Amino acid sequence: MRFRCNTCLGEFEEAGPDGVSYAHVCPPVVQARVQRNAVVLFVPLDQIRLDDTITVLRAGQETETLVSATQPNDVRLHDRQVPRPTGEQRDENATPVDVDTSARPDKNRPIKAEGRGRTPI
Ligand SMILES: [Zn+2]
Repeated sequence: MRFRCNTCLGEFEEAGPDGVSYAHVCPPVVQARVQRNAVVLFVPLDQIRLDDTITVLRAGQETETLVSATQPNDVRLHDRQVPRPTGEQRDENATPVDVDTSARPDKNRPIKAEGRGRTPI
């Protein structure tokens, strides 16, 4: 069965094509390093503005450019990852509550963090 995580909106199957079960964990939040009004900021990706200046790898060289002037093969540099706030991360790995390693996390053992849950899709 396929699910969408209600916290990070990631989509995943309960098991991979090889049948191995998958425990979803929300990834860290990615922030981009931008210069805005001559100030360096780290902003969520959906808050990058066209008038921000970013550093990209272009033809093998670090290049500063306006977001509005980026080229298709530019690769943004200097992003950082930050942990999600408490309660904003789902972690389906089983809590280490006993020694029964055959128990599935969603059957007999609680998961580590519920986050905002998941929805079958
Ligand atoms: Zn998630």
